[in-house]
Amino acid sequence: MAHLLIVEDDELLRDGLSAQLARAGHRIDTAADGQQALDLLQAQAFDGVVLDLGLPRVDGLTVLRRLRERLPALPVLILTARDGVEDRVAGLNAGADDYLTKPFNLDELRARLQSMLRRASLPAFGAGPVPAPATPAAGSAWRLDPVLPRAWVGQDPVELTQREWVLLDLLVRQSGQVVSREDVLSAWQGAPGEAGGATSNALEVYVHRLRRKLADAPLNIRNVRGLGYLLEAAPGA
Ligand code: CA
Repeated sequence: MAHLLIVEDDELLRDGLSAQLARAGHRIDTAADGQQALDLLQAQAFDGVVLDLGLPRVDGLTVLRRLRERLPALPVLILTARDGVEDRVAGLNAGADDYLTKPFNLDELRARLQSMLRRASLPAFGAGPVPAPATPAAGSAWRLDPVLPRAWVGQDPVELTQREWVLLDLLVRQSGQVVSREDVLSAWQGAPGEAGGATSNALEVYVHRLRRKLADAPLNIRNVRGLGYLLEAAPGA
């Protein structure tokens, strides 16, 4: 169960969302405008926010920027108009974790929220670059940044795309076990993508890119034929 804030000025949509998410077991608070959202965020602790961008009094982007100053790690999913490509980009740049375009399917919203909250519940989330859980190479040789899409090799940041980051996160959390192609493809569905539908062929390209980007890190992404990928410590690490 998570404590969620839904910020939406459309009353029907707001009520529908909160009913649906309450039924899924979450504790819900709602705000009908941006100022009310900021007041609630100041007064209470939330696990995640669903934020409409077009809001009265204080617009959604401003809410997002202000909450990011104080709460850099709070998961935020923004709702944008279907043709609002610029909004979407601005929202992601302002620190949204994911987005949905209206009209959206409630099942999809639930799935995106779940995946966002799961990513956020990594231990030490919000504390900046920290050792990732169950990293095969213990110590500070390399680590996955739990907040931003990047890894650290020693003191050097390695920028990752969202998909590379989600893939690596999955491998780290199941390190020593095979991660199936299906698991990666379904995790990607919950991530803000660079492109549309991903295929197994695309997965090979991403794995190849990750290996290259992390060539200096003491890890090895092994291809287990017919099954998937396995993260292990590099020989001699
Ligand atoms: Ca609106």
